[in-house]
Amino acid sequence: MNICLNDKIFEVLCNVVTSENVRAYVIGGWVRDCLLKRNHADKDIDIVVIGSGINIARKAARKIDPKIKVSVFKNFGTAMFKNAEYEIEFVGARKESYDRTSRKPVVEDGTLEDDQKRRDFTINALAISINKETFGEFLDPFGGVEDLKKKIIKTPLEPDKTFSDDPLRMMRAIRFATQLNFTIEENTFKSITENVERIKIVSPERIVTELNKILMCEHPSKGFILLEKSGLLKIILPELENLRGIETKEGKTHKDNFLHSIKVLDNISKNTDNLWLRWAALLHDIAKPVTKKYLPETGWSFHGHEYVGSKMIPDIFRKLKLPLNEKMKYVQKIIDLHLRPIVLSQELVTDSAVRRLLFEAGDDIDDLMILCEADITSKNEAKKTKHLENFKLVRIKLKEIEEKDAVRNFQPPVDGSEIIEAFGIKPGKEVGIIKNAIREAILDGIIPNEHDAARKLMMDKGKELGLIPAVTDALS
Ligand code: ATP
Ligand code: MG
Repeated sequence: MNICLNDKIFEVLCNVVTSENVRAYVIGGWVRDCLLKRNHADKDIDIVVIGSGINIARKAARKIDPKIKVSVFKNFGTAMFKNAEYEIEFVGARKESYDRTSRKPVVEDGTLEDDQKRRDFTINALAISINKETFGEFLDPFGGVEDLKKKIIKTPLEPDKTFSDDPLRMMRAIRFATQLNFTIEENTFKSITENVERIKIVSPERIVTELNKILMCEHPSKGFILLEKSGLLKIILPELENLRGIETKEGKTHKDNFLHSIKVLDNISKNTDNLWLRWAALLHDIAKPVTKKYLPETGWSFHGHEYVGSKMIPDIFRKLKLPLNEKMKYVQKIIDLHLRPIVLSQELVTDSAVRRLLFEAGDDIDDLMILCEADITSKNEAKKTKHLENFKLVRIKLKEIEEKDAVRNFQPPVDGSEIIEAFGIKPGKEVGIIKNAIREAILDGIIPNEHDAARKLMMDKGKELGLIPAVTDALS
């Protein structure tokens, strides 16, 4: 018995295709991951049918649960349904031919082998029969099993054809190499380097789906090195490519900020599964090239790169069709603040500096600290240990101040309506001035973060502004 067909679902599918008298195979990711003993949370099964995939999808769905809704994509000859456990996609075996301007092929019915040829990689073209007489038989015309053993990503056909037909496959090659820790076979990689320009016909949404998958890998740096080496990075994320390289002046060299950035990304990936924090790590030094200066006295400086970097994010996100909502703002904020904890760790820290950071970072303070710790990439172990020790102190300090002053999610203890009422005034600039004065006094530690102290300051400040207390307060 083939272990890839152990799930009970294949018995059901076997009965359907056998009684319908069509040949069918499980193909692609399911087979690959089963042979790799890779566990997936989502169980995607791809079935290729020599005949109508749509018909088999409908019949199978009826057998599994008559209430299941089948989604049919007539134009593609595919259909899919899902239940609690599986998402199963059915496709009629097909032969594809492409014209050079688009990823959309002209499709006609084909044999199993035709269908395997249009797959992206040998390891994704493996098929297993699910018909009764041949249940569990492997159909592996391109040596996919062997390539799985050798840990190789290789196209089933001549690579130039595979990549030129659908250039997204170049991104997929690098994504699979990163996810599975495989090597891209030499000819295949060479062909990617020669076809990079073709990526321009692929929509940014598809490209970013692959980038996000690379970012979520255990060691995402591998993917970015391959993107860089192949020449794809220059086209899809030139700002990151610009970080590459070192420069020396008067014997002083700065580090390669591309290698540094992807090292930080690897570091942070040990401590977070938050995609957006990983993006922040990748892009935290993105403005180093545009802020770079050489100062004879002090050497290389990247003054303001955190601020300028955070301002570069909307453009980058827009081009990549990443969300322009609070996710983007979060990435900007983390980048903008990424040097602040380091400053706190180096100098004699005042409470007010800590309070201000807590106020500005709010609930993202923990994520910010995770980035700062990942940002220590010094090869000097003693130095690294010292920095990490310093950060421990910063964390303790943050905790102390937060417990004492609760400014992490600062809500002013006296709000606008209380000010309006106290002086019997209309909303206007005085309200803003007083609110501001209260916030600053709390952050500077001049008054505690409490109502009575804030109210007293409000009264003083109001009088300073020439406001007259309303009756209730004048009497008290
Ligand atoms: P995962 O789901 O983990 O991303 P997968 O291999 O299942 O991996 P899917 O995108 O779900 O990838 O596609 C299923 C199968 O369809 C692949 O295994 C491959 O055989 C084929 N395939 C998907 N996209 C392409 C493509 N752009 N070109 C050629 N074949 C593809
Ligand atoms: Mg899949």
